[in-house]
Amino acid sequence: MNIYFTIVNSIFIFSALNKNPQMKKIILASIVSISLFSCANKQQKETAKSLTDMNPKFDRYKEQFIEDLWKVYPGWASSQGYHKYDSVLIVPTDDSRAKELAFSKSNLDSLKTYDLNSLSDNNKTDYYMIENQLKSIDWAINEQKSFEWNPSEYNVSGAFAEMLNGNYDSLDIRLRNFYLKMANIPAYYEAAKKNIKNPTLEHTQLAIEQNLGGISVFEKDFHEALNKVHFGEHEKQAMEATAKESVKAIKEFADWLKKLNNLTPRSFRLGKELYAKKFEFDIQSGYSIDQIYEKAITHKKELHEKMFFLADKLWTKYFGNTQKPTDKLLLIRQVIDKISEKHVKPEEFQTAIEQQMPVLIDFIKKKDLIYIDPSKPLVVRKEPDYMAGVAGASISAPGPYDKNGNTYYNVGSLSGWDKEKAESYLREYNHYILQILNIHEAIPGHYTQLVYSNQSPSLIKSLFGNNAMIEGWAVYTERMMLENGYGNDEDEMWLMYYKWNLRSTCNTILDYSVHTKDMSKQDAMNLLMNEAFQQKTEAEGKWRRVSVTQVQLCCYFTGYTEIYDFREELKKQMGDKFQLKTFHEKFLSYGSAPVKYIKELMLNEIGADKK
Ligand code: ZN
Ligand code: ZN
Repeated sequence: MNIYFTIVNSIFIFSALNKNPQMKKIILASIVSISLFSCANKQQKETAKSLTDMNPKFDRYKEQFIEDLWKVYPGWASSQGYHKYDSVLIVPTDDSRAKELAFSKSNLDSLKTYDLNSLSDNNKTDYYMIENQLKSIDWAINEQKSFEWNPSEYNVSGAFAEMLNGNYDSLDIRLRNFYLKMANIPAYYEAAKKNIKNPTLEHTQLAIEQNLGGISVFEKDFHEALNKVHFGEHEKQAMEATAKESVKAIKEFADWLKKLNNLTPRSFRLGKELYAKKFEFDIQSGYSIDQIYEKAITHKKELHEKMFFLADKLWTKYFGNTQKPTDKLLLIRQVIDKISEKHVKPEEFQTAIEQQMPVLIDFIKKKDLIYIDPSKPLVVRKEPDYMAGVAGASISAPGPYDKNGNTYYNVGSLSGWDKEKAESYLREYNHYILQILNIHEAIPGHYTQLVYSNQSPSLIKSLFGNNAMIEGWAVYTERMMLENGYGNDEDEMWLMYYKWNLRSTCNTILDYSVHTKDMSKQDAMNLLMNEAFQQKTEAEGKWRRVSVTQVQLCCYFTGYTEIYDFREELKKQMGDKFQLKTFHEKFLSYGSAPVKYIKELMLNEIGADKK
């Protein structure tokens, strides 16, 4: 299952994503094929024909590439629903890293034998994405070297928990693989100890917490699962014994970290050079990080001005003749706080979300914004127990190998929450923000994008899907819906939207400033609380997140900015020929490729069309 988060409280998931930043897509039934630039397509095909058609050969290469990828990264394979190597746990030694490097090098060589001009758009983008992935392997091992300074990269419990929770195979088979895979756990942690050098204090602390937090998988969950199967006593005993060894290895690792004589810990701040490179690999933006940072700073100013204008206008409606605060930011905050009081009751939270879906679909149809495939409805459900406390709302999509799985909109239940906590949560996800959240997560945000990505079924894009494109699209649709009159142009809706948008904008400013400009915690808290109007707990959580992740917080704003800028550029170029619906459908038809490549391909087609 792949999960698309918006509200996330758990650091656990971040580091899991951080290791595999590639968000993945599913292959559902393919839907209407859209050939909007048909004339251009024909011309392109003719050009391609005059060269040798390398597409069939490249398709075969991709298949082999993925088979080989799974041999080098069996854990990643399992997480994607490819279960051939479920019993394998790679021990992270120099040897295993040498294998990764050899894999990267030989495949970069293979790529060079293909002429990009002879490939289809789908294969071109796949080519770029494979190339980026391979180069990033090399960079991560030789330059970034987080296997030395980030002890939280070593944690086995998530993968093992997935084996217990997944329904892809009978419990017997899953437990036997679990058992076989456990055999390498002691060696795994021994290798980890050898790798770690002057780790950051933040990642050390995180590693201790997460590893100890995951022990219950081996101590409790595995044991309970064993009681459900009918293995022989002898086999069961062997399994229980190995689980004990595993627990011991994990505890020893945590102890070792606690006692580590770390006199010169590395700073958790990544530094300018590594950060710029990581941004290149993870985001694959057409802008540099410096450009994005400048854009975020400017955007923040614009948002503040727009927010002040609206808050000032709304003041009398909510506060009557009470004197306005002279400080602009304070005035905005007071109006926001007041408007946030409009929210659903805790027990109505899930129903409210469910009822929103048809409203969003109707609006999109009425305004002709994008085609929505009615044959694959989104299932809204209470979030499963094992996700509890992780995300307030998220989309789970089946991985590329389980094609028939449902796509779920997981909604956290507020039952059992104390009154104060529920109230604060509901104020955050108030009447207005809840609608924006639904746009983002579901329609026409993540869910719609998922359905469209199946138009160009590509395992490569399912596996290496560009996170900035995926999140950028969801953030883009929030504004696009409002621009088209969603929410009746209500001042309150726009004000709340700006606050929401300010969050991703400030995430970018925060991430870049902390990792490359030495921003202090105090300045960070000031940015988040006073300039982005966040509550203290949210800001504290963000500080924690930025101190253990890098670049990931930038993907929302970067992707959004690229898509929005591209649309505006295209509008100018095409004049009255520009159609929003056409733009959206065409844009999504390339799958989850980096925006810069989609842009390049779309501009090529339009250029060809003009000739
Ligand atoms: Zn999202
Ligand atoms: Zn209330």
